[in-house]
Amino acid sequence: MYLPSLIIMFITLTLLMSFIYFYMYSRSQESFIRYWGFCWVAYSFSLLFLILFITTNTRPLLELRKLFDLINILFLLYGAYAFMHTRIPTYWNRFCLYLIIWIALGIYYQFDLLAVYLPISMYQIIITAVLCNIVYKYWKVPPFEKGLSITVFILWGVGKALLSIFEVKYYNISSIYLMEIIFSNILNFCIFVIYLQKTKQEIRLAERLYKIVAENAADVIFYYKLKPKPSFKYVTPSIETMTGYSPKEFYQNPKFYLNLVPSDYFYSINEIFNGSPQIDKVTVFQLIHKNGSTFWGEFHSSILYENSEPIAVEGIIRDITKMKVAELQLLDSKQSRDLLLTYISHELKTPITSILGYVNALNDGTLNTTEEKKSALEIISSKALTLEHLINDLFQLSKLETNQFSFNFMHISALEISQDLINQHLLDIKTAGLKSIIEINKEQLSKINIIADPKRIDQVFSNIIFNAIKYTEENDKLIIKFYLDKNLKNYVISISDTGLGISQEDLPFIFDLFYKSQTATLRKENGSGLGLTISKEIIAAHGGEIWVKSNPGKGSTFTFSIPIYED
Ligand code: ADP
Repeated sequence: MYLPSLIIMFITLTLLMSFIYFYMYSRSQESFIRYWGFCWVAYSFSLLFLILFITTNTRPLLELRKLFDLINILFLLYGAYAFMHTRIPTYWNRFCLYLIIWIALGIYYQFDLLAVYLPISMYQIIITAVLCNIVYKYWKVPPFEKGLSITVFILWGVGKALLSIFEVKYYNISSIYLMEIIFSNILNFCIFVIYLQKTKQEIRLAERLYKIVAENAADVIFYYKLKPKPSFKYVTPSIETMTGYSPKEFYQNPKFYLNLVPSDYFYSINEIFNGSPQIDKVTVFQLIHKNGSTFWGEFHSSILYENSEPIAVEGIIRDITKMKVAELQLLDSKQSRDLLLTYISHELKTPITSILGYVNALNDGTLNTTEEKKSALEIISSKALTLEHLINDLFQLSKLETNQFSFNFMHISALEISQDLINQHLLDIKTAGLKSIIEINKEQLSKINIIADPKRIDQVFSNIIFNAIKYTEENDKLIIKFYLDKNLKNYVISISDTGLGISQEDLPFIFDLFYKSQTATLRKENGSGLGLTISKEIIAAHGGEIWVKSNPGKGSTFTFSIPIYED
């Protein structure tokens, strides 16, 4: 009874081992662990058939035991392949199948037991040799473990192959089984050691990898412990590049993060580092660098729990300034495009509505006298002209802004262009009933040349003159000056009127697209608000500047300058 109870105990132990392997497999999902689990299941069966044979003395049970021993070693080989992540060649299964057929034939025709055993033992020895070769050549484990594994595999494989042959004669000698049992325990232990070593090695490798990734990332990775007391456990060195503060400063002071935000945001950032459940998400702050500059930081934080108690906060801080600026620019450009379209449609709509109104009135006979028809046609033609101007202006502006506007630049004398401008507009000023004072610094300007497109300069000049006429009462005066600036570097033209002037609120926007001052709108002046924008672009293309000074109620002075040409 001694032998069977020993074997039963051992079956239980082996099965328990296989469960441990399967449990480990469920945790790690490493397929070699699963194969080793099967390996011990097969071995339990082998022992089961042995005990059945001892108690019943039925010979085929011994052959079945040998079959499961074979499977036991085959699974060890599978495990070795899986350990090095290689596909298992199918010929191993094929040979195993032949041997199963061989065993079946042996049982059926009652071959001599040794005749059945010998090919299987040979196969087991071959498997063992291959197994050891794989371990020797491909396993990346320390030499001592490698040597130990090879020794144990050889002893186990060869032992299993030869022991069963002895079994044929001495199956009732318990010391043989005891030896086998002790041996399988050693093997199991070895496999465990290998597994633990591998896992440890992988953890070390993963740790090193994470560290390399974390420390080289531009983002900041942090781990903030909440218990037993709040403190920074880890902050990547990139914090220094991002914020100017070193990780040490964060380690020394658990509330150091408050230095990163203005006091208005203390509450929100505290929520992150207090482990408030609401912060398990992304939060964007405008952060302050040690040098005082600001940047946009995005916090991705999550809380770590233990027994549903928050124990730590881990997260990433990402500098999203570039993205934010691009986003704001995009929003800005989208908004300004929308605004532009609204303005354009509004500007087009006014004259078109008026034209349509008169055309309808003419059509349905509301305006029937020749007089009325004539004046309606005049209005239609004037509105159509306004439309034409507007479309021309828009066309010019779009060309100017996209640098597609062609200029006919030439060398011209500053004095010559000054006189031309005056000659071309003096009549307009007179006709408008305005007095004019013209000051041309002839002495200075006669020696000066500029590079300019005279037609475009005339466009700017006439726009300013016509505006001055528009916003000035009759009998007022215009003072027009042509001179060089203090540094004698720029040719300057200034046009002052004694008209309505421009209010302080309107002044900063006067060169903006479609901008019309309050006074202009009240006076129902039919300007488009594009003239000064175009003028600004033209002057910029000449490398010059344009600006305005105004005294509401007293008048405005528009000035523009163009760099002089120096040889
Ligand atoms: P507009 O075609 O409406 O005149 P501009 O771009 O030339 O367009 O002018 C923009 C606005 O600047 C005008 O609507 C007007 O409100 C203001 N403005 C321009 N020149 C004068 C001026 N000399 N006096 C007062 N306001 C002026």
